[in-house]
Amino acid sequence: MDNLKLAELLFPHITKTTEYYEEKYPPRNLPEGARVTRIAPSPTGYLHIGALYGAVTDERTAHLTNGVFYLRIEDTDSKREVSGAADLFITMFEKYGMKFDEGAVSGGDKGDYGPYRQSERTEIYQTFAKQLIAEGKAYPCFCTDTEIEKIRNEQEAAGENPGYYGKWAVWRDAEIEKVEQALAEKKPFVVRLRSTGDPSKRVKLTDAIKGDLEFPQNNQDFVILKSDGTPPYHFAHAIDDHLMRTTHVVRGEEWLATLPWHVELFAALGFKRPVFCHTANIMKLDNGSKRKISKRKDPEADVAMFLREGYPQSALIEYVLTLLNSNFEDWRRANPTADKNEFPFSFKKMGVSGPLFDFEKLYDICKDVVSRMDAETVYENVVAWTAEYDPEFNAVLTKDPQYAKDILSIGRGGSKPRKDFGLWKEVREYMGFFYNELFAPEYCFPENLAKEDIIAVLEKYPSVFDENDDQQQWFEKLKTVASSIGFAADTKEYKKNPDAFKGHVGDIAMMLRVALTGKQVSPDTFAVIRILGKDEMTNRLKKCIDSIKG
Ligand code: GLU
Repeated sequence: MDNLKLAELLFPHITKTTEYYEEKYPPRNLPEGARVTRIAPSPTGYLHIGALYGAVTDERTAHLTNGVFYLRIEDTDSKREVSGAADLFITMFEKYGMKFDEGAVSGGDKGDYGPYRQSERTEIYQTFAKQLIAEGKAYPCFCTDTEIEKIRNEQEAAGENPGYYGKWAVWRDAEIEKVEQALAEKKPFVVRLRSTGDPSKRVKLTDAIKGDLEFPQNNQDFVILKSDGTPPYHFAHAIDDHLMRTTHVVRGEEWLATLPWHVELFAALGFKRPVFCHTANIMKLDNGSKRKISKRKDPEADVAMFLREGYPQSALIEYVLTLLNSNFEDWRRANPTADKNEFPFSFKKMGVSGPLFDFEKLYDICKDVVSRMDAETVYENVVAWTAEYDPEFNAVLTKDPQYAKDILSIGRGGSKPRKDFGLWKEVREYMGFFYNELFAPEYCFPENLAKEDIIAVLEKYPSVFDENDDQQQWFEKLKTVASSIGFAADTKEYKKNPDAFKGHVGDIAMMLRVALTGKQVSPDTFAVIRILGKDEMTNRLKKCIDSIKG
């Protein structure tokens, strides 16, 4: 068979050579040890939490080594493509702070190794496929689906392994005349690799996460170009990761099954293999047993859900880091205020089996992360979140930014900042009462407090209040109010002799809290009064008295 002639026959429109592309995309000039990684989503739906998990691995690996992190859109399967998904991914990754040095970024491509959308790379794939054909390493196959099915049935009947290989690969050694005739009849064809593998031999390889791997060589003549001239994942992966000079291919463990194909492809193409890094799938507990997070069943599969529910983006990333590296939590405890990017992320600390997604833990991390933010940052985040998901609260908040920031400053700073909320959606419930337009109190006082006593306290309080009091003086005043109506000024005193009092100073504070905030749980009452100011405080106490009196 004249392979050169065959290559020309099949791809007359391909005029560039593989050398042309090798020169166009030369090895990168990077410092020793710099790693080049990519995230390569297929725009077939929403952004899966697993993709974010992979992206953090890629991003940390590249940026901790002064390497390059890029985004490639794997959109060769137009049947499965969901319109707008690619742009959605780009914006989502940006929202999560994934800084791409190159790739398919908003507004087009950035970088010298593009195009970064596979749909724009068909000519490149065909050039390499043509070269493989010219070298006798690939060939066209004109089998119809029915013929492929017939082969499968025969294999099944004969108890042989399924697939297109060896003697079953009917077009493997077809005469060129037969190919010419099929082309003349305009029969569609795929291009297959002419496998030289032998399954009785083993391939050995070290995966950066899974460790040493060993598997039988591939012997399938798998498809490298589909009948529409575009490549399936395997071929595109080999060409792109080679030409884009990826050093570390981080991807889900579902690709382990076809790793023998990829190993053979890299060898056939004469490419140096990247380091493979197969990540374990994120799992969840379902009725006591572990299973993969499912796109269909689990809302947490969709990263957009976390945005909608107001999980701070940086907290989700921080949680992903705890899933990725077993020592992250210890590091965080030892470095509570350090930037998470200072953490020495490593493949070695990644688990071989899938980590469990734990919402409670994520929520704790959200509270920690938010408690470490300053009021300004919290304000900006809440404004951004409410702009999209709660416009009513957004309008209220942004009317007087300083007022909102004063509220958000309560309990911040110091070595033990308060952890009042973890999700942006909780902020309205937390601080809405500060705004008259949102203040709709139900005044649920603890049952042990008598109405007359509450009214007495609320009536008396403005007369003792002094705006210049510090927190201690303020509390002293509460004590005097307590004593004046038969409550203990001191809780210890009350505990020693509960029958001698109606209650204690804590009850007085609770009466004020409920009257001013409408709730039994609220930020510090002293801080609340300071922010509301004397007039508003007095109004609210009156309003509460009126409501009790009915
Ligand atoms: N497009 C592939 C996927 O979405 C990418 C796998 C890879 O990272 O190589 O699964």
